[in-house]
Amino acid sequence: MTNSTRWSYSRLAAYLSRCSLQYYFRYVAKIEPERTSSRLAFGSAIHAGLEEAHRSWKSGEPVPLEVAQAAFAADLEIRLNDPILEFRKDETPEGLIDQGKGLLAAWADEAEYQEVIDAEHEFSVPVVHPKTGEVLDAELTGIIDLLVKVPGSSSPLVVDFKTSARRFSASQLDFDLQAAIYGYAIRSIYRVDTVPMRWEVLVKTKRPGIQKIEFVRGSDGDARLFELVRAAERGVAADVFHPNDGSMWCSGCSFASACSRWEENPNAIPVDSARALSRTDS
Ligand code: SF4
Repeated sequence: MTNSTRWSYSRLAAYLSRCSLQYYFRYVAKIEPERTSSRLAFGSAIHAGLEEAHRSWKSGEPVPLEVAQAAFAADLEIRLNDPILEFRKDETPEGLIDQGKGLLAAWADEAEYQEVIDAEHEFSVPVVHPKTGEVLDAELTGIIDLLVKVPGSSSPLVVDFKTSARRFSASQLDFDLQAAIYGYAIRSIYRVDTVPMRWEVLVKTKRPGIQKIEFVRGSDGDARLFELVRAAERGVAADVFHPNDGSMWCSGCSFASACSRWEENPNAIPVDSARALSRTDS
């Protein structure tokens, strides 16, 4: 398995759902991104604040909210110094820090202390077809925000935190690739039939809101997940990379300049020339 592809949720979604050309620039050519967004920086910093809180829960000595807020602010300040970061209109570093502290305060108001198995739990599991037993030369990998003990259950509760401008709809979970991967991984590791999960959405409305969506994942989607990984493996091996023009991912794309010249060499962009394109743009 040493040379097998490690498919995280981000990587698989990038290839299958967003844009295969963007996937190529990021994961194959590995060219330098030309921009990144304050939204991504903000979400990562919120995770840093929550991780601080949950690691203290795991140690049995929960820290006050202010410590988690300070971890968030310190992380965000570093990220906002990235020279390629783009702010949205009317955004300021101070405003983002206030917004993040407000979201964490809203989260803390509703948080119930739970026995934590692990925070930022890394996993790597083989990709096995549930009926035929076929094993792909690939792994599913990831880092789960939080694993919590469930009294009387062999399976932990999987918790994932998200920041969003609006509340999630329940229908978004029907084909949620991240839930499919996390559920598959935890069932493989703990050898259980079902996994309880909770998505906690920190909603960036004027008055911060916390939406908790609880659901259970069984093996129903395993064959589909297996075939999705196989499709991605085949596509990448065959150099199938093309733009997804007009998609919601084009706005603010980190590789827009390289993409704008894709048609000059559409069949395959050699890694070196892709890097050259990127250097020319900077
Ligand atoms: S600009 Fe759009 S089509 Fe081009 S790489 Fe980015 S997401 Fe894909």
